[in-house]
Amino acid sequence: MSGSNGSNQGLKIYYNPKQTVKGNQSFSPSAGKPALLMEALRASDLPIEVLNFDPMTNADLKMVHEAAFVDGILSCRRANGFGNRLPSVAESLLWTTGSFVAASLAAWQFKENTCSPTSGFHHAHYDACGGFCTFNGLVLAAMKLIESGANKIGILDNDQHYGDGTVNLLHKHQLAQVQHYTFGANRVIESTSEAWLRRLPEIVYSFKGCEVLLYQAGADPYIRDPLGGALTLDQLKRRDEIVFGIAGELKIPVAWNLAGGYTEPFAEVIKIHLNTARASLGIFESE
Ligand SMILES: [Zn+2]
Repeated sequence: MSGSNGSNQGLKIYYNPKQTVKGNQSFSPSAGKPALLMEALRASDLPIEVLNFDPMTNADLKMVHEAAFVDGILSCRRANGFGNRLPSVAESLLWTTGSFVAASLAAWQFKENTCSPTSGFHHAHYDACGGFCTFNGLVLAAMKLIESGANKIGILDNDQHYGDGTVNLLHKHQLAQVQHYTFGANRVIESTSEAWLRRLPEIVYSFKGCEVLLYQAGADPYIRDPLGGALTLDQLKRRDEIVFGIAGELKIPVAWNLAGGYTEPFAEVIKIHLNTARASLGIFESE
Protein backbone atom coordinates (compact mmCIF):
# COMPACT_ATOMS: atom_id res chain seq x y z
CA MET A 1 0.00 0.00 0.00
CA SER A 2 1.32 3.41 -0.86
CA GLY A 3 0.06 6.71 -2.14
CA SER A 4 0.04 10.29 -1.17
CA ASN A 5 -2.79 12.30 -2.56
CA GLY A 6 -5.24 14.13 -0.34
CA SER A 7 -5.69 14.18 3.37
CA ASN A 8 -6.25 11.14 5.53
CA GLN A 9 -9.43 12.51 7.01
CA GLY A 10 -11.66 10.62 4.68
CA LEU A 11 -13.06 11.01 1.22
CA LYS A 12 -15.49 13.90 0.96
CA ILE A 13 -18.61 12.75 -0.84
CA TYR A 14 -21.28 15.20 -1.98
CA TYR A 15 -24.44 13.20 -1.58
CA ASN A 16 -28.09 13.89 -0.93
CA PRO A 17 -30.72 11.11 -1.13
CA LYS A 18 -32.68 13.36 -3.53
CA GLN A 19 -30.16 12.58 -6.28
CA THR A 20 -31.34 8.97 -6.25
CA VAL A 21 -34.53 8.04 -8.12
CA LYS A 22 -36.40 5.29 -6.30
CA GLY A 23 -38.01 2.55 -8.36
CA ASN A 24 -36.08 3.61 -11.43
CA GLN A 25 -37.53 1.74 -14.41
CA SER A 26 -34.95 2.51 -17.08
CA PHE A 27 -32.52 -0.05 -18.52
CA SER A 28 -29.83 2.11 -16.98
CA PRO A 29 -29.47 1.63 -13.22
CA SER A 30 -27.70 4.99 -13.04
CA ALA A 31 -30.51 6.93 -11.37
CA GLY A 32 -30.73 4.35 -8.59
CA LYS A 33 -26.96 3.92 -8.28
CA PRO A 34 -25.98 6.67 -5.81
CA ALA A 35 -27.92 5.13 -2.92
CA LEU A 36 -26.53 1.65 -3.58
CA LEU A 37 -22.98 2.95 -3.70
CA MET A 38 -23.44 4.99 -0.51
CA GLU A 39 -24.69 1.86 1.22
CA ALA A 40 -21.59 -0.05 0.07
CA LEU A 41 -19.25 2.77 1.08
CA ARG A 42 -20.79 3.01 4.52
CA ALA A 43 -20.43 -0.76 4.96
CA SER A 44 -16.79 -0.66 3.84
CA ASP A 45 -13.76 0.13 5.98
CA LEU A 46 -13.03 3.26 3.91
CA PRO A 47 -13.02 6.61 5.69
CA ILE A 48 -15.71 8.81 4.19
CA GLU A 49 -17.35 12.08 5.04
CA VAL A 50 -20.75 12.83 3.52
CA LEU A 51 -21.44 16.48 2.79
CA ASN A 52 -24.61 18.27 1.79
CA PHE A 53 -24.90 20.83 -0.98
CA ASP A 54 -27.43 22.99 -2.80
CA PRO A 55 -29.23 21.70 -5.88
CA MET A 56 -28.74 23.50 -9.19
CA THR A 57 -31.47 25.85 -10.36
CA ASN A 58 -33.18 26.36 -13.68
CA ALA A 59 -30.93 29.41 -14.20
CA ASP A 60 -27.76 27.43 -13.45
CA LEU A 61 -28.65 24.85 -16.10
CA LYS A 62 -29.27 27.63 -18.61
CA MET A 63 -25.61 28.64 -18.30
CA VAL A 64 -24.89 25.47 -20.29
CA HIS A 65 -28.08 24.48 -22.12
CA GLU A 66 -30.66 26.12 -24.34
CA ALA A 67 -33.40 27.78 -22.24
CA ALA A 68 -36.32 26.04 -23.96
CA PHE A 69 -34.59 22.67 -23.54
CA VAL A 70 -34.07 23.23 -19.80
CA ASP A 71 -37.67 24.39 -19.32
CA GLY A 72 -39.02 21.48 -21.35
CA ILE A 73 -37.14 18.88 -19.30
CA LEU A 74 -37.84 20.38 -15.88
CA SER A 75 -41.56 20.81 -16.62
CA CYS A 76 -41.68 17.20 -17.90
CA ARG A 77 -43.05 18.30 -21.30
CA ARG A 78 -39.96 16.88 -22.91
CA ALA A 79 -38.46 13.42 -22.39
CA ASN A 80 -35.30 13.30 -20.28
CA GLY A 81 -32.13 11.34 -21.11
CA PHE A 82 -33.78 8.14 -19.84
CA GLY A 83 -36.54 8.62 -22.40
CA ASN A 84 -39.31 9.29 -19.86
CA ARG A 85 -41.05 12.33 -18.37
CA LEU A 86 -41.10 11.32 -14.72
CA PRO A 87 -41.16 14.28 -12.31
CA SER A 88 -38.97 12.26 -9.91
CA VAL A 89 -36.24 12.07 -12.55
CA ALA A 90 -36.55 15.77 -13.43
CA GLU A 91 -36.14 16.72 -9.78
CA SER A 92 -33.18 14.39 -9.29
CA LEU A 93 -31.32 16.12 -12.13
CA LEU A 94 -31.03 19.33 -10.09
CA TRP A 95 -29.36 17.28 -7.34
CA THR A 96 -27.03 15.18 -9.52
CA THR A 97 -25.68 18.26 -11.27
CA GLY A 98 -25.56 20.06 -7.89
CA SER A 99 -23.55 17.21 -6.39
CA PHE A 100 -20.98 17.28 -9.17
CA VAL A 101 -20.66 21.07 -9.16
CA ALA A 102 -20.21 21.08 -5.35
CA ALA A 103 -17.60 18.30 -5.49
CA SER A 104 -15.72 20.10 -8.29
CA LEU A 105 -15.68 23.50 -6.59
CA ALA A 106 -14.56 21.95 -3.28
CA ALA A 107 -11.77 19.93 -4.95
CA TRP A 108 -10.48 23.11 -6.59
CA GLN A 109 -10.88 25.35 -3.55
CA PHE A 110 -9.52 22.99 -0.88
CA LYS A 111 -7.08 21.12 -3.15
CA GLU A 112 -8.25 17.65 -2.22
CA ASN A 113 -9.92 14.76 -3.96
CA THR A 114 -13.71 14.67 -3.75
CA CYS A 115 -16.43 12.30 -4.95
CA SER A 116 -19.82 12.89 -6.51
CA PRO A 117 -21.82 9.67 -6.79
CA THR A 118 -23.40 10.71 -10.08
CA SER A 119 -23.76 9.61 -13.69
CA GLY A 120 -25.53 10.73 -16.81
CA PHE A 121 -23.67 13.80 -18.07
CA HIS A 122 -21.48 13.32 -21.13
CA HIS A 123 -24.06 12.61 -23.86
CA ALA A 124 -26.02 15.78 -22.99
CA HIS A 125 -25.74 18.35 -25.79
CA TYR A 126 -26.71 22.04 -25.84
CA ASP A 127 -30.33 21.34 -26.73
CA ALA A 128 -30.61 17.55 -26.75
CA CYS A 129 -30.23 14.61 -24.43
CA GLY A 130 -29.83 10.87 -24.81
CA GLY A 131 -27.93 7.80 -23.69
CA PHE A 132 -29.18 8.18 -20.09
CA CYS A 133 -27.75 11.73 -19.97
CA THR A 134 -29.89 14.87 -19.67
CA PHE A 135 -27.83 17.81 -18.41
CA ASN A 136 -24.06 18.02 -18.76
CA GLY A 137 -22.77 18.31 -15.22
CA LEU A 138 -19.17 18.16 -16.45
CA VAL A 139 -19.43 21.30 -18.56
CA LEU A 140 -21.61 23.01 -15.95
CA ALA A 141 -18.95 22.33 -13.29
CA ALA A 142 -16.25 23.66 -15.63
CA MET A 143 -18.25 26.85 -16.24
CA LYS A 144 -18.88 27.30 -12.50
CA LEU A 145 -15.15 26.82 -11.86
CA ILE A 146 -14.28 29.44 -14.49
CA GLU A 147 -16.84 31.80 -12.93
CA SER A 148 -15.09 31.23 -9.58
CA GLY A 149 -11.67 32.09 -11.02
CA ALA A 150 -10.18 28.81 -12.26
CA ASN A 151 -7.98 29.27 -15.32
CA LYS A 152 -7.34 25.72 -16.47
CA ILE A 153 -9.57 22.70 -15.96
CA GLY A 154 -9.18 19.11 -17.10
CA ILE A 155 -11.97 16.70 -17.96
CA LEU A 156 -10.71 13.12 -18.07
CA ASP A 157 -13.62 10.99 -19.22
CA ASN A 158 -12.84 7.29 -18.85
CA ASP A 159 -16.39 6.12 -19.48
CA GLN A 160 -16.56 3.49 -22.24
CA HIS A 161 -18.52 5.76 -24.58
CA TYR A 162 -17.59 8.84 -26.58
CA GLY A 163 -18.38 12.06 -24.70
CA ASP A 164 -20.16 13.67 -27.64
CA GLY A 165 -22.24 16.03 -25.51
CA THR A 166 -19.15 17.38 -23.77
CA VAL A 167 -17.41 17.91 -27.12
CA ASN A 168 -20.52 19.73 -28.41
CA LEU A 169 -20.76 22.04 -25.38
CA LEU A 170 -17.06 22.86 -25.07
CA HIS A 171 -17.19 23.95 -28.70
CA LYS A 172 -20.52 25.76 -28.34
CA HIS A 173 -19.28 27.82 -25.38
CA GLN A 174 -15.73 28.16 -26.73
CA LEU A 175 -14.23 26.95 -23.46
CA ALA A 176 -10.54 27.16 -24.30
CA GLN A 177 -9.69 26.84 -20.59
CA VAL A 178 -10.93 23.25 -20.58
CA GLN A 179 -8.82 20.30 -21.72
CA HIS A 180 -10.88 17.21 -22.53
CA TYR A 181 -10.02 13.55 -23.07
CA THR A 182 -12.64 10.92 -23.86
CA PHE A 183 -11.72 7.24 -23.68
CA GLY A 184 -14.62 6.51 -26.01
CA ALA A 185 -12.73 8.08 -28.92
CA ASN A 186 -10.42 5.04 -28.82
CA ARG A 187 -11.58 1.63 -29.80
CA VAL A 188 -9.94 -0.29 -27.02
CA ILE A 189 -10.50 -4.03 -27.30
CA GLU A 190 -9.19 -6.91 -25.22
CA SER A 191 -5.98 -7.22 -27.23
CA THR A 192 -5.22 -3.48 -26.95
CA SER A 193 -6.27 -2.83 -23.35
CA GLU A 194 -2.75 -3.26 -21.90
CA ALA A 195 -1.35 -0.96 -24.59
CA TRP A 196 -3.91 1.69 -23.60
CA LEU A 197 -2.97 1.32 -19.92
CA ARG A 198 0.68 1.84 -20.89
CA ARG A 199 -0.35 5.07 -22.66
CA LEU A 200 -2.49 6.29 -19.79
CA PRO A 201 0.34 7.89 -17.76
CA GLU A 202 1.14 10.10 -20.75
CA ILE A 203 -2.55 11.04 -21.03
CA VAL A 204 -2.75 11.99 -17.34
CA TYR A 205 0.56 13.90 -17.46
CA SER A 206 -0.86 15.94 -20.36
CA PHE A 207 -3.21 17.58 -17.81
CA LYS A 208 -0.21 19.16 -16.06
CA GLY A 209 -1.02 22.76 -15.19
CA CYS A 210 -4.72 22.11 -14.67
CA GLU A 211 -6.03 23.42 -11.36
CA VAL A 212 -8.55 20.61 -11.02
CA LEU A 213 -9.33 17.39 -12.83
CA LEU A 214 -12.95 16.31 -13.36
CA TYR A 215 -12.69 12.54 -13.65
CA GLN A 216 -15.40 10.25 -14.97
CA ALA A 217 -14.32 6.89 -13.55
CA GLY A 218 -16.76 4.95 -15.73
CA ALA A 219 -17.41 1.33 -14.81
CA ASP A 220 -18.66 0.41 -18.29
CA PRO A 221 -15.23 -0.19 -19.86
CA TYR A 222 -15.54 -3.44 -17.84
CA ILE A 223 -15.17 -6.52 -20.00
CA ARG A 224 -18.42 -8.05 -18.69
CA ASP A 225 -20.46 -4.89 -19.22
CA PRO A 226 -23.36 -5.41 -21.66
CA LEU A 227 -22.73 -2.00 -23.25
CA GLY A 228 -19.26 -2.83 -24.38
CA GLY A 229 -15.89 -2.80 -22.68
CA ALA A 230 -12.58 -4.64 -22.66
CA LEU A 231 -10.92 -3.96 -19.31
CA THR A 232 -10.79 -6.51 -16.50
CA LEU A 233 -11.47 -5.63 -12.87
CA ASP A 234 -7.73 -5.56 -12.26
CA GLN A 235 -7.12 -3.31 -15.27
CA LEU A 236 -9.85 -0.90 -14.12
CA LYS A 237 -8.21 -0.79 -10.71
CA ARG A 238 -4.81 -0.09 -12.26
CA ARG A 239 -6.46 2.59 -14.45
CA ASP A 240 -7.69 4.44 -11.39
CA GLU A 241 -4.40 4.03 -9.53
CA ILE A 242 -2.55 5.57 -12.49
CA VAL A 243 -5.00 8.48 -12.68
CA PHE A 244 -4.92 9.28 -8.96
CA GLY A 245 -1.21 8.52 -8.58
CA ILE A 246 -0.16 10.93 -11.32
CA ALA A 247 -2.74 13.59 -10.44
CA GLY A 248 -1.35 13.46 -6.90
CA GLU A 249 2.19 13.78 -8.19
CA LEU A 250 1.14 16.78 -10.27
CA LYS A 251 -0.77 18.17 -7.26
CA ILE A 252 -4.01 18.32 -9.23
CA PRO A 253 -7.07 17.69 -7.04
CA VAL A 254 -9.58 15.33 -8.59
CA ALA A 255 -13.38 15.48 -8.43
CA TRP A 256 -14.57 12.07 -9.58
CA ASN A 257 -17.92 10.54 -10.42
CA LEU A 258 -19.33 7.21 -11.50
CA ALA A 259 -20.56 7.59 -15.10
CA GLY A 260 -21.70 4.35 -16.81
CA GLY A 261 -21.84 0.81 -15.46
CA TYR A 262 -24.50 -1.73 -16.40
CA THR A 263 -23.10 -5.12 -15.41
CA GLU A 264 -25.36 -7.58 -13.61
CA PRO A 265 -25.19 -8.43 -10.80
CA PHE A 266 -24.80 -4.79 -9.84
CA ALA A 267 -22.41 -5.78 -7.05
CA GLU A 268 -19.74 -6.02 -9.78
CA VAL A 269 -20.24 -2.35 -10.63
CA ILE A 270 -20.07 -1.43 -6.94
CA LYS A 271 -16.76 -3.33 -6.69
CA ILE A 272 -15.31 -1.16 -9.49
CA HIS A 273 -16.45 2.06 -7.79
CA LEU A 274 -15.09 0.97 -4.40
CA ASN A 275 -11.72 0.44 -6.07
CA THR A 276 -11.93 3.99 -7.45
CA ALA A 277 -12.75 5.26 -3.95
CA ARG A 278 -9.68 3.45 -2.57
CA ALA A 279 -7.42 4.90 -5.26
CA SER A 280 -8.82 8.39 -4.64
CA LEU A 281 -7.84 7.98 -0.97
CA GLY A 282 -4.30 7.07 -2.01
CA ILE A 283 -4.72 3.39 -1.18
CA PHE A 284 -2.94 1.66 -4.06
CA GLU A 285 -3.01 -2.12 -4.10
CA SER A 286 -1.55 -3.13 -7.47
CA GLU A 287 2.17 -3.68 -7.96
ZN1 LIG B 1 -20.93 4.84 -20.96
